[in-house]
Amino acid sequence: MGMTVGVSVAVAVVLWAFGMSLWKGFLLAFVSHFIVFGLINYFTGIYMSYKMRTVEVEQLKLLNDQSVSVSCVTCGEPALVPMLLGEDNVYTCDQCGAVNRIIISAETALPTSPVSELDPDKVLLNQIKKLEQPKES
Ligand SMILES: [Zn+2]
Repeated sequence: MGMTVGVSVAVAVVLWAFGMSLWKGFLLAFVSHFIVFGLINYFTGIYMSYKMRTVEVEQLKLLNDQSVSVSCVTCGEPALVPMLLGEDNVYTCDQCGAVNRIIISAETALPTSPVSELDPDKVLLNQIKKLEQPKES
């Protein structure tokens, strides 16, 4: 507030030097000070909330990418839980309050192609070969 008055006085003195009444200049500077600052605050507020929302959306996306769908060991309540490799992944069930630990297990599989992309002759040949193999008894 003291600074606002100080700046207003300074502006008033400058305006006074240009022939404006001292009080008029002071009031003009004082009032426009609040208007300008109000506008700056208003637009800064809009910009900040926009930025915050963008960050929130990014965080949600990240969370969604690194979450697993699990169900509670005790009551079976499904939950979407963020999971990080190399961390102890523990969550508390919203339904029953039980503490669950997520165990990560990895397995391997051969990449497969859809049947429609396979060569039908080869598939048929493999089936015939299987049929021709003598059964072990
Ligand atoms: Zn539960």
